[in-house]
Amino acid sequence: MAGETVFVSGANGFIALHIISRLLNKGYNVIGSVRSQEKADDLYKKFQTDKSDPKFKIVIIEDLIKPGAFDDVLKNNKDIKYVLHTASPFKFGFTDDFDEGYRKPAVEGTINALKAIDKYGENVITTVVTSSFASVMNFDKLEDSSFIHNENVWNPIEWDQVKDQGKAYVASKKLAEKAAWDYVKEHNVKFNLNTVLPVYVFGPQLFDEDASLEKTNTSNQIIINLLKSDPNDTKFFKDTSGIGVDVRDVADFHILAFERGIKNQRLFAASETFTDQKLLNIINEYVPQLTGKIAKGSPSKAYTVNETGFSTQKSRDLLGDFEFISLKDQVVDTVNQALKQNK
Ligand code: NDP
Repeated sequence: MAGETVFVSGANGFIALHIISRLLNKGYNVIGSVRSQEKADDLYKKFQTDKSDPKFKIVIIEDLIKPGAFDDVLKNNKDIKYVLHTASPFKFGFTDDFDEGYRKPAVEGTINALKAIDKYGENVITTVVTSSFASVMNFDKLEDSSFIHNENVWNPIEWDQVKDQGKAYVASKKLAEKAAWDYVKEHNVKFNLNTVLPVYVFGPQLFDEDASLEKTNTSNQIIINLLKSDPNDTKFFKDTSGIGVDVRDVADFHILAFERGIKNQRLFAASETFTDQKLLNIINEYVPQLTGKIAKGSPSKAYTVNETGFSTQKSRDLLGDFEFISLKDQVVDTVNQALKQNK
């Protein structure tokens, strides 16, 4: 409700920015956390405000794995009613230390947030943790369309199975979500917990200046990389495949997760399956200015792969007949924004 206060961790992230923009437009007061003053200043500038604005405050949490990392923000802002914990590493190639780089920030960051809410967040009604399809997917079933991934399914992966950074990310998200559910159960907390489980998140950056062919967030790189493909390439593009969802829908999921009074649910955000080839087909058909400038690949093969089975029925019902933005619109809006920024 307008006038209520929401705390969003990882406020400068791709998904969090859309959440914050929607919250501010709805009249909520927002407190966001970032890791440095520089990032706070950048955020104030982007939202065309400053630290005197009572509707939008930014706090610095340098290290979310430090015990008590979230204590001050909950202690000092007793008006916080909803907490949206989005901060977690989602990038690759930055470390070989998977435990420090992925597991600890995901798991201990989540637990530190929950502990602070439990201890100091007397007025917190609902906490939403951004989990991931990573904590749902079963690797050996991704090409078995008869296996339905839904809100009841868990990824069986454990940390000792992690051999590469992809698995490190996936396991970190599964373990973080598991730890969150275990925490609220074991501590009999007073607030509701919901988790949001997005598949690959596509769609425009909130701020055009963050869209670029050189640097974009991890999931949109899948689309942006195709813009650099060789126009003469006729191979079947299928290196990446999965399920896509729009960032604007993911932001709405986080907000509806508390606005609709949903209690203790996993909310699965997934729109349509894709392969690189399907993405290329969409770009070639709907972004005419790229005709002849990127690969066509093998358009007719786009639908020949075995797709991942999934259902979001329960989540859409809980959120009130939620309808997802199509893959076409996710891709076209992402590409058009990137092209506009790279003229
Ligand atoms: P971004 O990389 O854009 O945002 C991640 C946010 O988390 C940033 O604010 C980042 O801060 C912060 N963060 C990362 N590592 C740390 C750390 N070690 N300590 C403190 N803060 C950290 O990613 P997204 O917006 O895409 O992701 C947001 C959430 O959504 C994550 O939990 C991610 O796992 C989840 N998710 C994303 C999907 C996607 O396809 N994008 C799919 C499924 C889930 P900084 O900028 O300072 O690094």
